[in-house]
Amino acid sequence: MTDANNASLSSAHDRWVDRDAAVVWHGFTQMSTYAENRPIIVESGEGRELIDVDGTHYLDAISSLWVTTLGHRVPELDAAAREQLDRVAHSTMLGNGNRITIELAEALAPRVPVSEPHFLFASDGAAAVEQSIKIAFQYWTNQGITNRTRYLALGGAYHGDTIGAISIGAGGFGTDMFDPLRFDVLRAPGYDDPGWADTAVAMIRAHAHELAAVMIEPLVQGAVGMWITDPESVERVADACREHDVLLIADEVATGFGRTGTLFASEQCRIRPDIMCIGKGITGGYLAMAATIASRRVYDAFLGPDLSEMTLYHGHSFSGNALAAAVALRHLQLFDELEVLINVRERAAQLRSRLEQLSNGNHAIKEIRQRGLMVGVELTPPQDNLRWGRRVCAAAVNRGVLLRPLGDVVVLMPILTTTAEEIDRIVDVLQASINEVCAR
Ligand SMILES: *Cc1c(COP(=O)(O)O)cnc(C)c1O
Repeated sequence: MTDANNASLSSAHDRWVDRDAAVVWHGFTQMSTYAENRPIIVESGEGRELIDVDGTHYLDAISSLWVTTLGHRVPELDAAAREQLDRVAHSTMLGNGNRITIELAEALAPRVPVSEPHFLFASDGAAAVEQSIKIAFQYWTNQGITNRTRYLALGGAYHGDTIGAISIGAGGFGTDMFDPLRFDVLRAPGYDDPGWADTAVAMIRAHAHELAAVMIEPLVQGAVGMWITDPESVERVADACREHDVLLIADEVATGFGRTGTLFASEQCRIRPDIMCIGKGITGGYLAMAATIASRRVYDAFLGPDLSEMTLYHGHSFSGNALAAAVALRHLQLFDELEVLINVRERAAQLRSRLEQLSNGNHAIKEIRQRGLMVGVELTPPQDNLRWGRRVCAAAVNRGVLLRPLGDVVVLMPILTTTAEEIDRIVDVLQASINEVCAR
């Protein structure tokens, strides 16, 4: 571990930032200040560390924005990608199949909490969400029911950045100017409201006749700042959907693949959604892959004569990409072989007790919210515009731990194979960074 401050003395980093800003447009980033905010420019990765162009190592405590599960350059995943390269990198799934993608769907089928599932693959979580919106809509129209056209979603919801996904999403993140493009959605409260499930259940009862589907992020609303709820509330909402014959879409793009301590958060909530969206961790964070998973009941509603309007006329060029499928299949096997979920639960318990100590009597911390290894540490700036979240994370990066905030919520999302020493290091660095920035 070299001193991260060396980067400021070095010109390699600055040169790469200049070249970067000259041609690359970064998402969710104001490019006019991109360089000033000292981005790290990654050259390589190793285990749970990223190494920048100056050779400085950073502990990746955000799982490369919530996608990395086992680490970077995992030998078995590297080998799976190489072996698939010797067969084929990609072939279309539109009207044709690919052996490795079939094997992946077969391996996932008994592991997902969806009954008799079929997998419609895509490349990003937002695309999986978009597919789920259209599937839920057409599910009803295929049965001649044309008034089930609305969706119920939650306050604080985030489902991706495409137009359908931002319609179901609750806004914020500077996206309010897109309001004229958003379709109208019924909005129940988010997990920050203890009564959210009661209200959602009442709304489902009142609006069932016009609802195509309800979409939720089970257990954790991630992007809004790690709002959490209890499994029983989620279960109650799922029960209401079943009782009133409304489809339930579980967006497990963030919570899926072990983050909350089970392979899927739906398992803890004892729910079996009609449609589920997965993404982020599906390939261990290696390659762009996502999927919309339909239960048998939903899937069957699309069966009909060849070329008929019953068909789902939707499909992405890189759906079911063979390289991604090979890595995803090996990743699912490794998850069991490495007993990843046991580590997630042990490290989550350790992290919980360390963070309790840290927050005890600390006036800079408003609340700590945690489910498994998804954590939000909400800071309490005494006034607006102090950008504490951003500054605390920058201070952590200077200490060699890569963090990224959501407003004034510092997100901790360690890679699932993280060690006890790394958890201690993350909390130690967070404590030092909060002390540095938030001292009164
Ligand atoms: C990240 C995320 C998405 C969008 O996934 P992308 O791959 O970034 O398009 C959708 N839903 C949830 C809950 C997410 O956290």
